[in-house]
Amino acid sequence: MDSQDLVHILLVSFPGQGHVNPLLRLGKILASTGLLVTFSAPESVGRFMRKANKHIDEVTPVGDGMIRFEFFDDGLGENDPRRADMNFYIPHLELHGKEAVTKIVKKHEKEGRPVSCLINNPYIPWISDVAHKLNIPNAVLWVLSCACFSAYYHYNYELAQFPTDSDPEIDVQLPSMPLLKHDEIPSFLHPQTPCPIIGKAILGQFKVLSKTFCVLVETFQELESDVIDYMSKFCLIKPIGPLFKNPISSNSSIQGSFFKADDCIDFLNSKDPASVVYVSFGSVIAFKQEQINEIAYGLLNSGVSFLWVLRPSQPGVPPLVLPENFLEKIGDKGKIVQWCSQKEVLEHPSVACYVTHCGWNSSLEAITSGVPMVAFPAWGDQVTNAKFVVDVFEVGVRLGRGDQTEINGVSRDRIEKCLKEVTGPKAVELKKSVLKWKKVAEEAVAEGGSSDRNLKDFVDKIRNVSK
Ligand code: UDP
Repeated sequence: MDSQDLVHILLVSFPGQGHVNPLLRLGKILASTGLLVTFSAPESVGRFMRKANKHIDEVTPVGDGMIRFEFFDDGLGENDPRRADMNFYIPHLELHGKEAVTKIVKKHEKEGRPVSCLINNPYIPWISDVAHKLNIPNAVLWVLSCACFSAYYHYNYELAQFPTDSDPEIDVQLPSMPLLKHDEIPSFLHPQTPCPIIGKAILGQFKVLSKTFCVLVETFQELESDVIDYMSKFCLIKPIGPLFKNPISSNSSIQGSFFKADDCIDFLNSKDPASVVYVSFGSVIAFKQEQINEIAYGLLNSGVSFLWVLRPSQPGVPPLVLPENFLEKIGDKGKIVQWCSQKEVLEHPSVACYVTHCGWNSSLEAITSGVPMVAFPAWGDQVTNAKFVVDVFEVGVRLGRGDQTEINGVSRDRIEKCLKEVTGPKAVELKKSVLKWKKVAEEAVAEGGSSDRNLKDFVDKIRNVSK
C-alpha cells in the first residue's frame, strides 16, 4: 500500500529520553493499526536516533501501517550547551518549533498526505496552538501519571490549596488521591522549586486543554482507577499504557534510545535468579561526588550483587569518580555501565529489585516487568511517583525523599539497610504485590483489555475526523 493512501498523523516530541520513549512507543502502536505516522522532534533527537537505527530516513512498515521520521532544526548548533539549560531552551524551542512544525504540516498537505491529527507530549503545549491554527485535531500524550495530571489540573484551575511562599509546608488533598505532603506534590508546583520554567511549560498544557480533544495517558485504568474516573469528569482521559508492555512497541526494531547500551546481559546471566540489585536514575539527574561515594559504599557494604548505570557527567562538569579501589573491592559482585537496555535488564530473571529515581517511565517499566522498587526520587513528578510506588501500589520501599533539586537523605548506612530489607524480609511481599500489577498490566494491553479498547477507540476517532 502507498503511504499516501493511509490516514496520516503527526507526533511531535520534546527532546528528552523520558518523552521520546513513550511517544515513539505510541507511534509504533498507532502505525500498526494501519495509519501513517510521522514522528517528529528537534534534530538533536535525530542525531541520536540515526546512530541507533540505520534506516531511520526511510518509511518503515509496522503491522498494517507505516512510520517515518522527520526532524527539525531547533536553531542551535550541534553542541550548543544551552540545550541543557531549560530556562533558555524551553522558550527557545517554542520560538523555532512553531514555524518548523507548521512547515512540516503544510508540506505534507501539498504532497497529498494531509495530517489528520497532531499529538504532542508535555513541555511543548504550543503544538496545540499550531494544530488549532491549522484546524487539525490535537491530542496530548501525557507521559506522567494520572495522579500528576490531577495535581497540575487542580493547581492550574486553583481548585485546591497548594504550598505558597508564606505557607510552604502545607499538605495537599486532591479528590480521589491520598494526602500528599508538601514534598510529595510534583516539585515544579512548589513555590521553592529552583526550576519554575518546567512547571510553567507543563501548566501551559492546561491553558490550552480546550484545544485538545483527548488526553492519552501513559498509565492503565486498573492502576489509577479512582483518579482516572475523577479526572474523566473534566476532560476526555484515555489510559492507554503501559505502552512499554504493548507487544508492538517492544517488538519493532526502531529504537529511540539516545545512548548506546553497554552489554550487561552476560553479567546478569552469570548471577542467580532474583539476586541482582539494578541501580539507575534515568536520563537527567546529575549527581554530586559525595552522593556517588555514598551509593558506592552502600552497595559495597550491603554485600548484594548489583548493576549500576552511572552516566558520564555533562561536558564541562568535573567527571565523577568511584572511591579508590572500588572496582577491585567489588570484584565480580557488581558491574557499572554508562547506559543499558533497561527493558532487557528489568525483564531479566536475575534482577531482584530496582533502585530508582521513580521517573514515570521507569516506574511503569518496573511495575510491568514485575520488579519491586527502592524509591529514591529527586524532583518533578518523581516525588509523587515515589509516594504511589510505596504507599498506594505497594511495590517498593522508600530510600530517600527529593528536596526539589536533588536526591536527598543518601547515606551509605541507609542504603545498606534498605537493600538488605528489600532483598531480605520484604522481598516476598513486594514481589507478590508487583506480580499482581504485572498481570493486570498485561491484561490491559492485551486484545480487549482496557488500554487496548481505549487505543482502538482513539484510532476510530481519528479515522472518523479524517473522512
Ligand atoms: N533508560 C534506558 N537505559 C538506561 C537508563 C534509562 O533505556 O540505562 C530509559 C528507561 O527505560 C526510561 C527512560 O530511559 O524509558 C527514562 O525515563 P524516565 O521517565 O524513567 O526518567 P527521566 O530520564 O525522564 O528522568
